[in-house]
Amino acid sequence: EFKSNFLREHNGRHQFHPMIHPLLSQANPPQIIVSGDGCYVTDLDGKRYVDGFGGLWNVNVGHNRREVKEAIIAQLDKIAYYSSFAGTTTAPSIELSAKLCAMAAEEDADKVLFSANGSDAVETALKFARQYWHLVGEPGRFKFISLKNGYHGVHFGGLSVNGSSYYRSSYEPLLPGCTQIDTPWTYRNPYTEDPEKLADMIATLLDREIYHQGPNTVAAFIAEPVQGAGGVIVPPASFWPKVREVCDKYGVLLISDEVVTGFGRSGAMFGARGWGVKPDIMCLAKGISAGYVPMGATVFNKRVASAWYKEVNPTGFIMHGYTATGHALGCAAALAALDIVEREDLPGNAAKQGKTLLEGLKPLEASSSIVGEVRGKGLMVGIDLVSDKAKRTPLDPANGIAERVAYYAREEGAIVRPAGSTIILSPPLVINEEEVAKLVNALRVAFVRNEKDL
Ligand code: PMP
Repeated sequence: EFKSNFLREHNGRHQFHPMIHPLLSQANPPQIIVSGDGCYVTDLDGKRYVDGFGGLWNVNVGHNRREVKEAIIAQLDKIAYYSSFAGTTTAPSIELSAKLCAMAAEEDADKVLFSANGSDAVETALKFARQYWHLVGEPGRFKFISLKNGYHGVHFGGLSVNGSSYYRSSYEPLLPGCTQIDTPWTYRNPYTEDPEKLADMIATLLDREIYHQGPNTVAAFIAEPVQGAGGVIVPPASFWPKVREVCDKYGVLLISDEVVTGFGRSGAMFGARGWGVKPDIMCLAKGISAGYVPMGATVFNKRVASAWYKEVNPTGFIMHGYTATGHALGCAAALAALDIVEREDLPGNAAKQGKTLLEGLKPLEASSSIVGEVRGKGLMVGIDLVSDKAKRTPLDPANGIAERVAYYAREEGAIVRPAGSTIILSPPLVINEEEVAKLVNALRVAFVRNEKDL
Protein backbone atom coordinates (compact mmCIF):
# COMPACT_ATOMS: atom_id res chain seq x y z
CA GLU A 1 0.00 0.00 0.00
CA PHE A 2 2.82 2.36 0.92
CA LYS A 3 4.58 1.56 -2.33
CA SER A 4 1.53 2.13 -4.54
CA ASN A 5 0.68 5.43 -2.79
CA PHE A 6 4.27 6.53 -3.17
CA LEU A 7 4.33 5.65 -6.87
CA ARG A 8 1.08 7.53 -7.46
CA GLU A 9 2.45 10.63 -5.76
CA HIS A 10 5.65 10.50 -7.78
CA ASN A 11 4.19 9.72 -11.22
CA GLY A 12 5.35 6.15 -11.20
CA ARG A 13 8.96 6.98 -10.38
CA HIS A 14 10.53 5.25 -7.44
CA GLN A 15 14.16 5.13 -8.51
CA PHE A 16 15.77 8.49 -7.92
CA HIS A 17 17.76 9.85 -10.82
CA PRO A 18 20.67 12.28 -10.42
CA MET A 19 19.27 14.58 -13.10
CA ILE A 20 16.31 15.30 -10.82
CA HIS A 21 18.54 17.24 -8.47
CA PRO A 22 22.30 17.56 -8.66
CA LEU A 23 22.45 17.03 -4.92
CA LEU A 24 21.67 13.39 -4.35
CA SER A 25 20.80 14.12 -0.73
CA GLN A 26 17.87 16.18 -2.03
CA ALA A 27 16.78 13.74 -4.72
CA ASN A 28 13.05 13.62 -5.02
CA PRO A 29 11.75 11.02 -4.86
CA PRO A 30 14.44 9.59 -2.63
CA GLN A 31 15.35 5.94 -2.70
CA ILE A 32 13.46 4.25 0.09
CA ILE A 33 15.44 1.77 2.14
CA VAL A 34 13.13 -0.74 3.77
CA SER A 35 15.45 -3.23 5.43
CA GLY A 36 19.04 -4.07 6.18
CA ASP A 37 21.18 -7.04 7.17
CA GLY A 38 24.87 -6.88 8.01
CA CYS A 39 26.55 -4.91 5.27
CA TYR A 40 23.53 -4.86 2.94
CA VAL A 41 20.37 -2.80 2.58
CA THR A 42 17.27 -3.47 0.51
CA ASP A 43 15.09 -0.82 -1.11
CA LEU A 44 11.38 -0.59 -1.88
CA ASP A 45 11.85 -2.52 -5.13
CA GLY A 46 13.43 -5.41 -3.26
CA LYS A 47 16.87 -4.66 -4.74
CA ARG A 48 19.74 -5.44 -2.37
CA TYR A 49 22.83 -3.23 -2.20
CA VAL A 50 26.21 -3.40 -0.52
CA ASP A 51 26.12 -0.51 1.93
CA GLY A 52 29.20 1.52 1.13
CA PHE A 53 27.73 4.46 3.01
CA GLY A 54 26.96 2.92 6.42
CA GLY A 55 24.22 5.45 7.03
CA LEU A 56 26.63 8.42 7.25
CA TRP A 57 29.57 6.79 9.14
CA ASN A 58 27.08 5.36 11.53
CA VAL A 59 26.08 1.70 11.37
CA ASN A 60 29.47 0.34 12.46
CA VAL A 61 28.22 -3.05 13.69
CA GLY A 62 26.05 -3.63 10.61
CA HIS A 63 22.29 -3.63 10.12
CA ASN A 64 19.76 -5.70 11.99
CA ARG A 65 22.12 -7.07 14.64
CA ARG A 66 20.29 -9.46 16.93
CA GLU A 67 22.38 -8.50 20.00
CA VAL A 68 21.50 -4.81 19.71
CA LYS A 69 17.82 -5.49 19.04
CA GLU A 70 17.62 -7.81 22.04
CA ALA A 71 19.30 -5.27 24.30
CA ILE A 72 16.82 -2.59 23.21
CA ILE A 73 13.82 -4.87 23.73
CA ALA A 74 15.11 -6.03 27.13
CA GLN A 75 15.44 -2.39 28.19
CA LEU A 76 11.99 -1.55 26.79
CA ASP A 77 10.58 -4.35 28.93
CA LYS A 78 11.98 -2.53 31.99
CA ILE A 79 11.74 1.20 31.26
CA ALA A 80 12.38 3.13 28.04
CA TYR A 81 13.42 6.40 29.59
CA TYR A 82 13.73 8.26 32.83
CA SER A 83 15.13 11.73 33.30
CA SER A 84 18.17 12.53 35.39
CA PHE A 85 16.73 15.80 36.64
CA ALA A 86 15.28 14.67 39.97
CA GLY A 87 18.34 13.06 41.48
CA THR A 88 17.41 10.01 39.40
CA THR A 89 18.97 8.01 36.60
CA THR A 90 18.79 4.59 34.95
CA ALA A 91 21.15 1.64 35.13
CA PRO A 92 22.24 1.63 31.44
CA SER A 93 23.40 5.25 31.65
CA ILE A 94 25.63 4.47 34.65
CA GLU A 95 26.92 1.34 32.94
CA LEU A 96 27.65 3.19 29.70
CA SER A 97 29.55 6.01 31.38
CA ALA A 98 31.66 3.42 33.22
CA LYS A 99 32.16 1.52 29.95
CA LEU A 100 33.29 4.66 28.09
CA CYS A 101 35.71 5.59 30.87
CA ALA A 102 37.12 2.06 30.73
CA MET A 103 37.42 2.12 26.94
CA ALA A 104 39.13 5.53 27.13
CA ALA A 105 41.26 4.74 30.20
CA GLU A 106 44.37 5.34 28.12
CA GLU A 107 43.06 8.87 27.51
CA ASP A 108 42.61 9.39 31.25
CA ALA A 109 38.81 9.55 30.83
CA ASP A 110 37.07 10.58 34.01
CA LYS A 111 33.61 12.03 33.32
CA VAL A 112 30.98 11.64 30.62
CA LEU A 113 28.06 13.84 29.63
CA PHE A 114 25.44 12.23 27.39
CA SER A 115 23.44 13.76 24.58
CA ALA A 116 21.55 12.65 21.50
CA ASN A 117 23.84 13.27 18.52
CA GLY A 118 27.19 14.55 17.31
CA SER A 119 26.25 18.22 17.21
CA ASP A 120 25.21 18.01 20.88
CA ALA A 121 28.46 16.25 21.76
CA VAL A 122 30.47 19.07 20.14
CA GLU A 123 28.36 21.77 21.79
CA THR A 124 28.87 20.11 25.17
CA ALA A 125 32.63 19.95 24.57
CA LEU A 126 32.87 23.65 23.65
CA LYS A 127 30.72 24.73 26.59
CA PHE A 128 32.68 22.66 29.06
CA ALA A 129 36.01 23.82 27.72
CA ARG A 130 34.86 27.33 28.63
CA GLN A 131 33.41 26.18 31.92
CA TYR A 132 36.72 24.57 32.80
CA TRP A 133 38.54 27.88 32.38
CA HIS A 134 35.87 29.69 34.41
CA LEU A 135 36.17 27.23 37.25
CA VAL A 136 39.96 27.32 37.36
CA GLY A 137 39.92 31.13 37.45
CA GLU A 138 40.80 32.05 33.86
CA PRO A 139 37.43 33.15 32.42
CA GLY A 140 39.24 35.20 29.77
CA ARG A 141 40.02 32.00 27.88
CA PHE A 142 36.97 31.82 25.62
CA LYS A 143 38.35 31.50 22.09
CA PHE A 144 38.39 28.42 19.88
CA ILE A 145 40.73 27.56 17.04
CA SER A 146 39.89 24.92 14.42
CA LEU A 147 40.79 23.78 10.89
CA LYS A 148 39.51 25.46 7.73
CA ASN A 149 38.16 22.29 6.20
CA GLY A 150 36.70 20.81 9.41
CA TYR A 151 33.12 19.81 10.20
CA HIS A 152 31.67 19.86 13.69
CA GLY A 153 27.89 19.79 13.31
CA VAL A 154 25.01 22.18 12.98
CA HIS A 155 24.54 23.88 16.36
CA PHE A 156 25.82 27.42 16.87
CA GLY A 157 29.06 26.42 18.60
CA GLY A 158 29.76 23.74 16.01
CA LEU A 159 28.93 26.13 13.18
CA SER A 160 31.33 28.68 14.64
CA VAL A 161 34.24 26.24 14.52
CA ASN A 162 33.24 24.65 11.19
CA GLY A 163 35.78 25.36 8.51
CA SER A 164 33.83 26.05 5.37
CA SER A 165 31.80 29.24 5.04
CA TYR A 166 29.35 27.02 3.11
CA TYR A 167 28.14 25.74 6.49
CA ARG A 168 28.37 29.02 8.35
CA SER A 169 27.36 31.92 6.17
CA SER A 170 23.57 31.79 6.47
CA TYR A 171 23.71 31.77 10.27
CA GLU A 172 26.11 34.56 11.11
CA PRO A 173 26.96 36.24 13.42
CA LEU A 174 28.28 33.20 15.23
CA LEU A 175 30.34 32.79 18.43
CA PRO A 176 32.96 35.53 18.77
CA GLY A 177 36.59 34.51 19.01
CA CYS A 178 36.56 31.52 16.65
CA THR A 179 39.35 31.39 14.08
CA GLN A 180 40.55 28.72 11.66
CA ILE A 181 43.96 27.72 10.42
CA ASP A 182 44.81 25.79 7.22
CA THR A 183 44.14 22.07 7.03
CA PRO A 184 47.12 19.69 6.86
CA TRP A 185 46.01 18.35 3.48
CA THR A 186 48.93 16.88 1.58
CA TYR A 187 47.14 16.67 -1.79
CA ARG A 188 45.84 20.23 -1.81
CA ASN A 189 47.71 23.00 0.02
CA PRO A 190 49.68 26.09 -0.99
CA TYR A 191 52.85 25.09 0.92
CA THR A 192 54.47 21.75 0.24
CA GLU A 193 53.87 18.15 -0.86
CA ASP A 194 56.19 16.83 1.85
CA PRO A 195 53.93 15.49 4.62
CA GLU A 196 56.42 16.06 7.43
CA LYS A 197 57.17 19.62 6.38
CA LEU A 198 53.43 20.24 6.07
CA ALA A 199 52.77 18.90 9.57
CA ASP A 200 55.49 21.22 10.91
CA MET A 201 54.11 24.15 9.00
CA ILE A 202 50.51 23.76 10.15
CA ALA A 203 51.57 23.12 13.75
CA THR A 204 53.55 26.36 13.50
CA LEU A 205 50.46 28.12 12.17
CA LEU A 206 48.57 26.88 15.25
CA ASP A 207 51.37 28.12 17.51
CA ARG A 208 51.30 31.54 15.83
CA GLU A 209 47.52 31.75 15.94
CA ILE A 210 47.47 31.04 19.69
CA TYR A 211 50.28 33.56 20.20
CA HIS A 212 48.53 36.14 18.02
CA GLN A 213 45.18 35.71 19.77
CA GLY A 214 46.90 35.89 23.16
CA PRO A 215 47.45 32.52 24.85
CA ASN A 216 45.47 33.56 27.91
CA THR A 217 42.38 34.09 25.71
CA VAL A 218 42.34 30.70 23.96
CA ALA A 219 40.18 27.96 25.47
CA ALA A 220 40.75 25.08 23.07
CA PHE A 221 41.76 23.75 19.69
CA ILE A 222 39.20 21.39 18.11
CA ALA A 223 39.74 19.07 15.14
CA GLU A 224 38.78 15.70 13.66
CA PRO A 225 41.61 13.11 13.71
CA VAL A 226 40.70 12.37 10.08
CA GLN A 227 38.36 14.89 8.47
CA GLY A 228 35.20 13.18 7.28
CA ALA A 229 32.64 15.52 5.75
CA GLY A 230 35.47 17.70 4.38
CA GLY A 231 36.36 14.87 1.99
CA VAL A 232 38.35 12.27 4.02
CA ILE A 233 41.47 14.32 4.69
CA VAL A 234 44.14 12.22 6.42
CA PRO A 235 46.75 14.46 8.07
CA PRO A 236 50.46 13.52 8.08
CA ALA A 237 51.22 11.07 10.93
CA SER A 238 53.22 13.60 12.92
CA PHE A 239 50.54 16.31 12.83
CA TRP A 240 48.49 15.34 15.90
CA PRO A 241 51.52 14.76 18.17
CA LYS A 242 52.77 18.22 17.14
CA VAL A 243 49.36 19.75 17.86
CA ARG A 244 49.44 18.19 21.33
CA GLU A 245 52.85 19.78 21.94
CA VAL A 246 51.67 23.22 20.84
CA CYS A 247 48.51 23.01 22.98
CA ASP A 248 50.61 21.95 25.99
CA LYS A 249 53.03 24.82 25.43
CA TYR A 250 50.18 27.31 25.98
CA GLY A 251 47.94 25.23 28.28
CA VAL A 252 45.25 25.18 25.56
CA LEU A 253 42.77 22.28 25.73
CA LEU A 254 42.74 19.76 22.87
CA ILE A 255 39.28 18.60 21.76
CA SER A 256 39.18 15.60 19.46
CA ASP A 257 35.94 15.44 17.49
CA GLU A 258 35.61 11.67 17.25
CA VAL A 259 32.02 11.66 16.03
CA VAL A 260 33.14 9.82 12.88
CA THR A 261 36.45 8.29 13.98
CA GLY A 262 35.34 7.05 17.42
CA PHE A 263 35.00 3.29 17.96
CA GLY A 264 37.15 1.99 15.20
CA ARG A 265 36.35 3.69 11.92
CA SER A 266 39.87 4.98 11.25
CA GLY A 267 41.43 1.66 12.27
CA ALA A 268 42.05 2.48 15.97
CA MET A 269 39.51 2.53 18.80
CA PHE A 270 39.71 6.33 18.79
CA GLY A 271 41.14 8.45 15.98
CA ALA A 272 43.49 10.50 18.17
CA ARG A 273 44.76 7.27 19.78
CA GLY A 274 45.57 6.10 16.26
CA TRP A 275 47.94 9.09 16.06
CA GLY A 276 49.37 8.34 19.52
CA VAL A 277 47.73 11.37 21.12
CA LYS A 278 45.62 11.84 24.26
CA PRO A 279 43.08 14.63 23.89
CA ASP A 280 41.51 16.44 26.87
CA ILE A 281 37.97 16.10 25.56
CA MET A 282 36.44 13.65 23.05
CA CYS A 283 33.15 14.15 21.19
CA LEU A 284 31.42 10.85 20.45
CA ALA A 285 28.22 9.90 18.58
CA LYS A 286 27.31 7.82 15.50
CA GLY A 287 29.25 4.56 16.08
CA ILE A 288 28.61 4.73 19.83
CA SER A 289 25.16 3.21 19.27
CA ALA A 290 25.73 2.29 15.60
CA GLY A 291 22.63 4.21 14.54
CA TYR A 292 20.14 1.97 16.35
CA VAL A 293 19.04 4.73 18.75
CA PRO A 294 20.47 8.26 18.45
CA MET A 295 23.18 8.86 21.08
CA GLY A 296 25.97 11.30 21.75
CA ALA A 297 28.55 11.56 24.52
CA THR A 298 31.35 13.91 25.52
CA VAL A 299 34.21 12.40 27.48
CA PHE A 300 36.44 14.55 29.70
CA ASN A 301 39.87 13.60 31.01
CA LYS A 302 40.92 14.06 34.64
CA ARG A 303 42.39 17.50 33.97
CA VAL A 304 39.07 18.93 32.70
CA ALA A 305 36.87 16.88 35.03
CA SER A 306 38.86 18.01 38.06
CA ALA A 307 37.29 21.45 37.62
CA TRP A 308 34.03 20.10 38.83
CA TYR A 309 35.44 18.21 41.79
CA LYS A 310 34.35 19.66 45.14
CA GLU A 311 37.68 21.39 45.85
CA VAL A 312 37.30 23.61 42.79
CA ASN A 313 33.54 23.73 42.46
CA PRO A 314 32.16 23.41 46.03
CA THR A 315 28.48 23.22 45.00
CA GLY A 316 29.24 20.61 42.33
CA PHE A 317 26.61 22.40 40.26
CA ILE A 318 26.82 22.05 36.48
CA MET A 319 24.49 24.18 34.39
CA HIS A 320 23.87 21.70 31.61
CA GLY A 321 21.60 18.82 30.61
CA TYR A 322 19.25 17.65 27.89
CA THR A 323 15.90 15.97 28.43
CA ALA A 324 17.32 12.96 26.59
CA THR A 325 20.57 12.93 28.61
CA GLY A 326 21.49 9.31 29.28
CA HIS A 327 18.38 7.96 27.52
CA ALA A 328 18.03 4.38 28.72
CA LEU A 329 17.30 2.89 25.30
CA GLY A 330 20.20 4.75 23.67
CA CYS A 331 22.55 3.62 26.44
CA ALA A 332 21.33 0.01 26.23
CA ALA A 333 21.84 0.03 22.45
CA ALA A 334 25.30 1.58 22.88
CA LEU A 335 26.37 -1.02 25.46
CA ALA A 336 25.40 -3.83 23.06
CA ALA A 337 27.00 -2.11 20.05
CA LEU A 338 30.27 -1.40 21.90
CA ASP A 339 30.37 -4.98 23.09
CA ILE A 340 30.35 -6.06 19.42
CA VAL A 341 33.03 -3.46 18.55
CA GLU A 342 35.34 -4.99 21.18
CA ARG A 343 34.40 -8.67 20.77
CA GLU A 344 34.79 -8.62 16.98
CA ASP A 345 37.79 -6.26 17.00
CA LEU A 346 36.10 -3.89 14.57
CA PRO A 347 38.98 -1.36 14.72
CA GLY A 348 41.25 -4.20 13.51
CA ASN A 349 38.79 -5.18 10.78
CA ALA A 350 38.47 -1.54 9.70
CA ALA A 351 42.26 -1.29 9.36
CA LYS A 352 42.46 -4.55 7.39
CA GLN A 353 39.47 -4.15 5.09
CA GLY A 354 40.13 -0.43 4.69
CA LYS A 355 43.56 -1.25 3.27
CA THR A 356 42.04 -3.71 0.77
CA LEU A 357 39.37 -1.17 -0.19
CA LEU A 358 41.94 1.58 -0.69
CA GLU A 359 44.23 -0.68 -2.73
CA GLY A 360 41.27 -1.86 -4.83
CA LEU A 361 40.23 1.70 -5.68
CA LYS A 362 43.72 3.21 -6.11
CA PRO A 363 43.99 2.11 -9.81
CA LEU A 364 41.14 4.56 -10.56
CA GLU A 365 43.76 7.33 -10.29
CA ALA A 366 45.29 6.01 -13.53
CA SER A 367 42.22 4.62 -15.28
CA SER A 368 39.80 7.52 -14.83
CA SER A 369 40.42 10.95 -16.28
CA ILE A 370 38.59 12.61 -13.37
CA VAL A 371 40.05 10.78 -10.36
CA GLY A 372 42.78 12.93 -8.83
CA GLU A 373 43.44 10.95 -5.67
CA VAL A 374 42.05 7.96 -3.80
CA ARG A 375 42.91 8.34 -0.10
CA GLY A 376 41.81 7.02 3.23
CA LYS A 377 42.49 5.57 6.65
CA GLY A 378 40.62 2.55 7.98
CA LEU A 379 37.12 2.47 6.58
CA MET A 380 37.11 6.14 5.61
CA VAL A 381 37.87 6.37 1.93
CA GLY A 382 37.54 9.36 -0.41
CA ILE A 383 37.75 9.49 -4.20
CA ASP A 384 38.76 13.05 -5.11
CA LEU A 385 37.35 14.16 -8.47
CA VAL A 386 39.20 16.80 -10.46
CA SER A 387 38.69 18.72 -13.69
CA ASP A 388 42.47 19.10 -14.17
CA LYS A 389 44.74 16.38 -12.85
CA ALA A 390 47.97 18.39 -13.07
CA LYS A 391 46.50 21.38 -11.27
CA ARG A 392 44.39 19.23 -8.95
CA THR A 393 41.40 21.49 -9.58
CA PRO A 394 38.36 20.11 -7.77
CA LEU A 395 35.53 19.14 -10.10
CA ASP A 396 32.72 21.67 -9.90
CA PRO A 397 30.08 19.91 -7.75
CA ALA A 398 27.33 21.77 -9.63
CA ASN A 399 27.87 19.63 -12.73
CA GLY A 400 26.52 16.55 -10.93
CA ILE A 401 29.28 14.18 -12.08
CA ALA A 402 29.89 12.80 -8.57
CA GLU A 403 26.15 12.13 -8.35
CA ARG A 404 26.18 10.40 -11.72
CA VAL A 405 29.04 8.11 -10.67
CA ALA A 406 27.20 7.31 -7.43
CA TYR A 407 24.07 6.62 -9.44
CA TYR A 408 25.91 4.19 -11.71
CA ALA A 409 27.46 2.52 -8.65
CA ARG A 410 23.96 2.09 -7.32
CA GLU A 411 22.87 0.44 -10.54
CA GLU A 412 25.81 -1.91 -9.99
CA GLY A 413 24.52 -2.72 -6.51
CA ALA A 414 26.47 -0.43 -4.16
CA ILE A 415 25.42 2.66 -2.22
CA VAL A 416 28.12 5.33 -1.93
CA ARG A 417 27.94 9.01 -1.05
CA PRO A 418 28.80 11.88 -3.37
CA ALA A 419 29.87 14.86 -1.25
CA GLY A 420 30.88 17.91 -3.25
CA SER A 421 33.74 16.82 -5.48
CA THR A 422 34.52 13.70 -3.43
CA ILE A 423 32.89 10.30 -3.43
CA ILE A 424 32.98 9.03 0.13
CA LEU A 425 32.93 5.41 1.26
CA SER A 426 32.15 4.58 4.87
CA PRO A 427 30.77 1.03 5.01
CA PRO A 428 29.86 -0.77 8.25
CA LEU A 429 33.02 -1.90 10.07
CA VAL A 430 31.86 -5.55 9.88
CA ILE A 431 32.47 -5.58 6.10
CA ASN A 432 34.27 -8.69 4.75
CA GLU A 433 36.55 -9.36 1.74
CA GLU A 434 33.69 -10.36 -0.54
CA GLU A 435 31.71 -7.20 0.23
CA VAL A 436 34.79 -5.01 -0.23
CA ALA A 437 35.30 -6.66 -3.64
CA LYS A 438 31.69 -5.90 -4.59
CA LEU A 439 32.14 -2.25 -3.62
CA VAL A 440 35.35 -1.96 -5.60
CA ASN A 441 33.81 -3.62 -8.62
CA ALA A 442 30.69 -1.43 -8.57
CA LEU A 443 32.86 1.70 -8.49
CA ARG A 444 35.17 0.48 -11.24
CA VAL A 445 32.20 -0.15 -13.52
CA ALA A 446 30.62 3.18 -12.53
CA PHE A 447 33.78 5.08 -13.49
CA VAL A 448 34.07 3.23 -16.81
CA ARG A 449 30.45 4.11 -17.63
CA ASN A 450 31.07 7.69 -16.54
CA GLU A 451 34.14 7.96 -18.78
CA LYS A 452 31.92 7.26 -21.80
CA ASP A 453 29.63 10.15 -20.83
CA LEU A 454 32.39 12.74 -20.53
N1 PMP B 1 31.26 16.12 14.12
C1 PMP B 1 31.65 15.42 13.05
C2 PMP B 1 33.11 15.15 12.84
C3 PMP B 1 30.70 14.94 12.14
O1 PMP B 1 31.09 14.28 11.03
C4 PMP B 1 29.33 15.18 12.40
C5 PMP B 1 28.23 14.65 11.49
N2 PMP B 1 28.56 14.10 10.32
C6 PMP B 1 28.98 15.92 13.53
C7 PMP B 1 29.97 16.37 14.37
C8 PMP B 1 27.55 16.23 13.83
O2 PMP B 1 26.89 15.06 14.18
P1 PMP B 1 25.31 14.95 14.05
O3 PMP B 1 24.99 14.98 12.59
O4 PMP B 1 24.98 13.63 14.70
O5 PMP B 1 24.71 16.08 14.79
